[in-house]
Amino acid sequence: MKGDTLSGSTVPGPWWGEPAGLDPIALPTSAEAVVVGGGILGLASAYWLARAGIRPLLLEQDRLGAGATGRNGGFLPIGTAVDHDALVERLGRDAARELLALTLENRRLAEAVIREEELACDFRPVGHLHLCLGEVEQEAGARLAGLLTEDGSRTDQLTRSETQGMVGTLLGPRITGGLFFRDIALVHSGKLVQGLATAAARRGVTLARATVQSIAGRPGLAEVRTNRGLVSTPRLIVAVNAWMDQLLPDLGRLITPVRGQVLAFAPVPSAFRTGMTAVVTPTEEYWQQTLDGSIILGGCRAVREDRDEGVRDCTPTVDVQAALEQVLPGLFPHLGPLQVTHRWAGPMAFTADRLPVLAGIPQWSAWAAGGFSGHGMSLTMVLGAQLANLALGQAGDPRLRHFHPSRLRGT
Ligand SMILES: Cc1cc2nc3c(=O)[nH]c(=O)nc-3n(C[C@H](O)[C@H](O)[C@H](O)COP(=O)(O)OP(=O)(O)OC[C@H]3O[C@@H](n4cnc5c(N)ncnc54)[C@H](O)[C@@H]3O)c2cc1C
Repeated sequence: MKGDTLSGSTVPGPWWGEPAGLDPIALPTSAEAVVVGGGILGLASAYWLARAGIRPLLLEQDRLGAGATGRNGGFLPIGTAVDHDALVERLGRDAARELLALTLENRRLAEAVIREEELACDFRPVGHLHLCLGEVEQEAGARLAGLLTEDGSRTDQLTRSETQGMVGTLLGPRITGGLFFRDIALVHSGKLVQGLATAAARRGVTLARATVQSIAGRPGLAEVRTNRGLVSTPRLIVAVNAWMDQLLPDLGRLITPVRGQVLAFAPVPSAFRTGMTAVVTPTEEYWQQTLDGSIILGGCRAVREDRDEGVRDCTPTVDVQAALEQVLPGLFPHLGPLQVTHRWAGPMAFTADRLPVLAGIPQWSAWAAGGFSGHGMSLTMVLGAQLANLALGQAGDPRLRHFHPSRLRGT
């Protein structure tokens, strides 16, 4: 790596690969439902609409998964972007428990869809090991593990030797112990996007490449203007996450794009069989070893002064990538040489309180959700089902009140 640009033999793009492009089909002038955005939320929403007997049109400006979903770390977590103990303090025990339960439902629903639709996405329910670096973290971890276990997601606090038993390479001296989250799973993000898209299409979703330029309409009918014509629909779902400001400015101003960076190392002998995290920098690092032995590792935003907040651009930077390369050698001195094969970045979408927003826009018969703050895989399958229900005129789950944007607007 030299100066501000990245060089060498690494592939500039996600290790997960690029899902197939969308066909440039002629757009209809009307559709039973329109979903904007071909990430996990848009795909899940369209999938659940199709399961309810509607034939939705999904519009994506790029490739499916071109946003955060096809560029992420491949964790299917539980809980939100806010740690459960912090949520208990902020919202109270009952509300935090409700949110945790919603993410556990998401996890079960995702697994059920993966199995029922036979999505070949390397789904691995192997749990997640967080490495504690010091006594302070160890003590805080004990409280978190206790609360999570009591509230329905078994989490074990591990000694250093128990932690060593779960890792296939010698722990470095900084690691004092760990936390093991049993309900977290791993997936291959690219294959998940492709598989869910195929299942959705099989059930009647039309997937098309088009950029939505603006939305207008009246109660009962949304008019979706695209670069390839106007589509009218009585049911609109907007699932554009970090791009929300471009289509729904009122909601979009509550969401800040944040660049997340990742790299992949060439296959090494099996060292990590669970998802992994450690707070090496304050914004936390995460990694998983894939079935072929490659290691996908992300994080290190904290090495940049602005933590890459406000950045939607997907170009990796020298400083963060250099920091990412140091994470594993710093924690595991015996891991051996690692060779970078891929480098990429993706657009996360943060809200001020790190919980997503989900809102109805009655003047256009539209619903929208986004702002998953780097943890969307823990909610988007269940929120896709909820958005489909709402678009069909059904009552939403009462727990969705936690995502109402009024909490951020102060109204
Ligand atoms: C580097 C990184 C690592 C992450 N790791 C994890 C993880 O391991 N686990 C986890 O839970 N979460 C993770 N996340 C977050 C998670 O990936 C997201 O929360 C989730 O994918 C959001 O899904 P989405 O469908 O809402 O948005 P996206 O996947 O961003 O999809 C939005 C789509 O809308 C399209 N679009 C935008 N504007 C328009 C328009 N005008 N017309 C048509 N289409 C449009 C975009 O092209 C995009 O494809 C990570 C994110 C990043 C960036």
